[in-house]
Amino acid sequence: MAVKHKVVESRENDGLNLIIRALQDINIKTGMHAAELGKLYERVVLKLGEIEIPTAPEDYKKFMNDIEQVQEMFTKACSKEELFSATLKALYNGISDLERRPSPTMSIVLQLIDYKKIPFAVQWILQNRYSEQSLERALLTLCNWLSKWMYTPNLGPLVLCFMQGLEAKQHDDILIEVARVYIEKLFKLVVLESIRGSVGPVVLYILERMQHNPEAFHKILPHINSILNSLYKQRSDSSQYYLHKFVNLFMALMEHFPGHPGLYDDLNETLEQYHPEKNYKEILNCKSWLDINNCTLTIRSSSGKVGLNNLGNTCYMNSVLQALYMTKLFRNSVLQSSRDTMPLFSKLQALFALLQFSQRCSLSPNDILNLARPPGFQPGHQHDSSEFLGYLLDILHEQEHSIYSSSIGNSIVNIGSSSGMSSDSTVVQGSFGGRILTVSRCDVCGLQSERTDSFRELQLSFPNNCMDPSVQTLLNYYLQPERLCGDNQYHCDTCKRLTDGERVSRIVEKPRRLILTLKHFRYDPVSQQRTKLLQRVKLD
Ligand SMILES: [Zn+2]
Repeated sequence: MAVKHKVVESRENDGLNLIIRALQDINIKTGMHAAELGKLYERVVLKLGEIEIPTAPEDYKKFMNDIEQVQEMFTKACSKEELFSATLKALYNGISDLERRPSPTMSIVLQLIDYKKIPFAVQWILQNRYSEQSLERALLTLCNWLSKWMYTPNLGPLVLCFMQGLEAKQHDDILIEVARVYIEKLFKLVVLESIRGSVGPVVLYILERMQHNPEAFHKILPHINSILNSLYKQRSDSSQYYLHKFVNLFMALMEHFPGHPGLYDDLNETLEQYHPEKNYKEILNCKSWLDINNCTLTIRSSSGKVGLNNLGNTCYMNSVLQALYMTKLFRNSVLQSSRDTMPLFSKLQALFALLQFSQRCSLSPNDILNLARPPGFQPGHQHDSSEFLGYLLDILHEQEHSIYSSSIGNSIVNIGSSSGMSSDSTVVQGSFGGRILTVSRCDVCGLQSERTDSFRELQLSFPNNCMDPSVQTLLNYYLQPERLCGDNQYHCDTCKRLTDGERVSRIVEKPRRLILTLKHFRYDPVSQQRTKLLQRVKLD
């Protein structure tokens, strides 16, 4: 194909013109298949990385005009979702390439990403399970661009968001390495008003989190005086904001890294001129990166418990996981079982083992979220924890049950032997399963029908006008006989029609551990909405 050859084979200096012509050609050919188009855009992105920024002023002006044109054409093309992801993929391949160092020209592709969508782009990268080496190279490339190219406003926010994503995934070693290489260059750029908004947050973020050793702080030490002085003289809102932040931060860092006699004398003098705040220490009240390679400290919290990191409004999951972990019967059954062919089960087992034995103060339960995110649960949104619990237990039970069924089918397990199990003896069912008997009685013929079901939780609703309810009140309400009349009539098999009647439930086999869900809401027929109940419930 003509277009492809033009893009790929050009080794001329005027590469941008070729790219523009290629993009024009693509726009003319409307009949092109989406996958084919995607491939072409990938090539264009990679090609952009080969184009060096000209140094002569006249060339530079033309270059920037061309860049604008390329960007416009790209924006038009990338309104299609599949092209957008193809471009994003090409961009990642470019920045993580271990062989080549793409030029910052490639970064203009970043402007295609809507500012608000940067977190999704980062999430996309992190979900792709790239190797540590690849992720480190990607961040190094982005920081390299950030340190020498001002034309892409999205670059700084992307670097920051990427770093935060890596931190959430506990890639502290990558972050520390990149911080070591780039902190000095980036810090010196904060003096430039035009790029400060992009690079400043990255610099603050790095310095606040490099608390495990003074390396980053000491690298910028020789430049602090002149940078603060320039910020002071600029007198813009942003320069004053960063001046203020830096003064407090450096005061805190000096105290945080004691034992360097003489080293901070000049800095102390400088900072005094800018009047640090009294509570300057608070700036370091954030997570610190941890150098795993050089870590001899036990940092498990003094409570003896290991926490779970919030992965973006995932408290609904973390609360459930901690509650399950604290249920000793369930925890021990999970830890002792050998069900390593079941993906979710073995991940839960690994998580429980870490919650018990890890020396870290917190863990990220990414694997569980990936395997047990209920359909419709959107990343980053708040969701219902009881819904999550139900879904999680369902999958665990079904995975275990299906393995049991298939081994019966293959006659591997001798029924009656100690390894045989009934469908009810899965770990989930064995811990939380009970049986409930429901008896319905027809008012007309007086006959009763009975049904027994297994349950894993009881969903308790609140009786009307009940002040100060206790768990027992709610349980009694749940088990009290229910009139079946009006819209709620029941179908009697003997009368063969809908009749009035009564239904009563009784627990005939109690679970070893009982899960209760309090339905803390009521349907309001006037507003046709669910309203939240704010009642406290006593534990009897
Ligand atoms: Zn009847």
